[in-house]
Order: sequence, then structure tokens, then C-alpha cells
Amino acid sequence: MEVVKTIAELKKIVKKVKQDGKTIGLVPTMGYLHEGHMALATEARKENDFVIMSFFVNPTQFGPNEDYESYPRDLERDKKIAESVGVDVIFAPSVEEMYPTDGGIRIHAGRQATILCGASRPGHFDGVLQVVTKLFHLAEPTRAYFGQKDAQQAAIISTLVRDFNFPLEIRTVPIVREEDGLAKSSRNVYLSPAERKEAPAIYRGLKRAKEEYLLSKNAEKTIQVAKDYILSNTSGRIDYIELLSYPDLQQVDEKTDQFVLAAAVFIGKTRLIDNIIFTKEGETENV
Ligand code: AMP
Repeated sequence: MEVVKTIAELKKIVKKVKQDGKTIGLVPTMGYLHEGHMALATEARKENDFVIMSFFVNPTQFGPNEDYESYPRDLERDKKIAESVGVDVIFAPSVEEMYPTDGGIRIHAGRQATILCGASRPGHFDGVLQVVTKLFHLAEPTRAYFGQKDAQQAAIISTLVRDFNFPLEIRTVPIVREEDGLAKSSRNVYLSPAERKEAPAIYRGLKRAKEEYLLSKNAEKTIQVAKDYILSNTSGRIDYIELLSYPDLQQVDEKTDQFVLAAAVFIGKTRLIDNIIFTKEGETENV
């Protein structure tokens, strides 16, 4: 496995891989790897000849009062994990390497970014689209892998690929969870032991709410079930809980056949997100 830090080195490798007629799987991450990232890389390994994983804590997707500075970073640890899942190249650029100049040109995410995390984190998805566009141009992937953990992100990136005709396929990988149901996240390290104990109640609340929806088909009642459960089982503060169609992220109606029930909850100072995607028959595998 090679670790490259410059665009020039990455492009050289990509050129050679393309000349050999090989397929490329790209796994963009912010590093501090856990089993969720590993699942993405494992899927990329299965489906492509060559796997590139990027580690970049992208400043343009963080708001002014968010955790950009304190976001956990550990390249040495990440290298070992990436190697163990068969990554061929790690691309770990500096901020200066990725953004040497700022011409002020941005990709503005559309309607899908005005709700859920986009409403609480203004500009976040514009930053995501900026970095992902650069990574797509640099790594020239055949397929790019994203987690359902960030379901809204996966939906918006799929729209980017469709609207701008990127010649690649977006693959979405199901959420990897801790044994107690908490979605794996690099941010879980922020949780105190007491907060860590409470956090799985988010997923339990979503599961109860999903059952409610399958019985009553009542979106308001469904959201209330999740809110009540989470508020009575944690000391958390709810940022949002919503039930929308997936992947278009519209209000649900009788024609909706795939749903996302999504939550963002502050447990202490840590903002955790989670979701369940399910069909009107209640199936969850079909992302
Ligand atoms: P991050 O490093 O948090 O930006 O995540 C990089 C990629 O890993 C994103 O596509 C995430 O959706 C995905 N990811 C993060 N956590 C999980 C998880 N628990 N299960 C599956 N994918 C995940």
C-alpha cells in the first residue's frame, strides 16, 4: 500500500491504473477509521481492481462553531487499518494541497440540502460537494463508496453525479453499528462514559418509530414516538427527527415507497446522526 500526499503523485498512479484498463474504487473519508469505513473499503475491494481511500478533514464542510480543529486525526493508525482491508493507495493531502487558491467558485447544493443536516449546518453540503468533485476528478473512480450513515450526503452526491454527468457509479453501504446499536462514528470518541451509555437510545427510538409508521402510516405520530423515546431515555437535545422519502427527500405521501427516518441529536456537546431507510413493506436492506 502506498501513501501519497500530493495531487501530482496521485494523478501519476491513476494514469497508470487507467492505462492498464483497471477499475478504480474510491472511498472518501475524514480518517480516524472505524468498521463503518472498513465496510466501504471492503465493498470497494470486492468490486474493483484498485482501491483508493482518501483521508481529508475538509475545512470547507465545517461551520465556524463546529469541531474542525478538534476532529480526531491519527494517520499512523489509519494506515494499518486501511492496509488490513486491502486499500492500494491512501491519498492524504494537506489543506494547502487541496485548496492552494480560492477563486471563490462553489457548487451550491440544491433543495435536498435545505433540510435535515443542511438546515442545521448551513453551507455544509456545498463544502462536501466541493471536496467530492475534486476527489472525483483526481481519482477518476469507476465507483465511489459512501455510507448510509450519512444518507442525506449520499443522496445529494448521487444528484451531483447525475446533474453533472460524472462518469462513475455511487455505491451506498449499510450502516455499521456497535453491538448495542449505536451507529459507528469517529465522533463517538467525544462521548463521556455516561453519554456513551445513553447514545444507543437514538437507534432504539428510530426503530420504535419505524414500527409505528408501518402500523399507523401517520408521519407526525411516528416522529413523536421517536422524540418521546429519545427524550425520556437520554439527556440529549433533539436537533431534528424527520420522516421523508428516500433518496429524493420529499414529504411522504401514499405514493412513497422508500422512506428515511433520520435523526440528529446532541448528547452533551456531541451531535450524533442516525437513520433507518425502509420500504413501505418494512424492508430495510434495500438502500
Ligand atoms: P467520515 O469519515 O465520517 O466523513 O465518513 C466517511 C464515509 O464513511 C462516509 O461515506 C460515511 O457515510 C461512511 N460512514 C461513516 N460511519 C459509517 C457507519 N457507521 N457505517 C457505514 N458507513 C459509515
